[in-house]
Amino acid sequence: MIQSEARHSTTEDVVAELRRRSTFVMVSHVKPDGDTLGAGLALGLALREIGKRVHYFQQDPVPRNLRFLPDADRVAREMPADLPADTLWVFCDMSDTSRAGEHLPAIERENVLDIDHHLANSRFGALNYVLETECSTGTCVLHLLRAMGSTITPEIATCLLTTIMTDTGGFMHSNTTAGVLRTSAELVELGADKEDITEKIFANKRFAAIRLLGAALDSARLEEDGKYCWSIVDEAMLEKFGADGEDTEEIVNHLRSVEGVDVAALFKDYDGDVRVSLRSSGRVNVQTVAGRLGGGGHFRASGLTYVGPVQDAVAALRDALRAEGL
Ligand code: AMP
Ligand code: MN
Ligand code: MN
Repeated sequence: MIQSEARHSTTEDVVAELRRRSTFVMVSHVKPDGDTLGAGLALGLALREIGKRVHYFQQDPVPRNLRFLPDADRVAREMPADLPADTLWVFCDMSDTSRAGEHLPAIERENVLDIDHHLANSRFGALNYVLETECSTGTCVLHLLRAMGSTITPEIATCLLTTIMTDTGGFMHSNTTAGVLRTSAELVELGADKEDITEKIFANKRFAAIRLLGAALDSARLEEDGKYCWSIVDEAMLEKFGADGEDTEEIVNHLRSVEGVDVAALFKDYDGDVRVSLRSSGRVNVQTVAGRLGGGGHFRASGLTYVGPVQDAVAALRDALRAEGL
């Protein structure tokens, strides 16, 4: 039994709890990426290897470019009715339970394990394994697997390398330390197929996505003395190219790649509220920028949801950026 809620749980505490429980639900965040999904799948695969019962909950469907991941076909939105009362719900890669969506059943806190690497994680679990200096939630999971003495199969190695390649932008972001490269080399030696992951995640765009990218770049604005580049994708643009939300993934990174740009923003004005993706070149902390408007994330990559017209979102973000030193 978990005795008390810990702001930070040790590796040993978490491993003991993983050993004690019989049944697990791995929970991914909405609009899932390769980290939230890869981390949950890696831990789920390792637990299944030692005879545990594992389910995967995710509100949104698995994105097209992540369907190659082992066990991805087991991810579901509905959970079986016969889950034991002491099922452990493992939230991967989110700073708060709200990031899992509204579809989640009510869960007692004593049955929650929070594994994450976000700044400002709210420590919502009974166990909180939050390692802010890790490049991905997947590498937090790797620490647990090593402590458990799990066999890292080629399938698990593929899931873990996917988490790293997702959250380092294919080894390009500043969180790509020497240690991250060493860990990645080990995962390749254990059977992770880097070439395949690269192709599936980064070179697997639909033609509609490329045309949408072209339109979003064509209407991009450069402001604040060239330090801020932003654009909008709306319902009409998606319709014009036959694209959907998954096809917007890379756009903000292109906006950020413009010479002299410190912060880039993409406003996604479809599906109801406005979702904003933020990227920073390293001078401005976009985690605190997003935090001002109810969002969160990391120093160089963050996001938020704005309730209101897109023009208001644009104005509110400009104010937040100026307040944070843009
Ligand atoms: P994205 O631009 O959607 O790739 O998100 C970049 C980062 O911001 C990720 O680390 C997300 O976890 C985080 N993030 C995105 N949207 C939100 C939100 N509404 N609230 C908190 N964090 C978010
Ligand atoms: Mn994520
Ligand atoms: Mn992550």
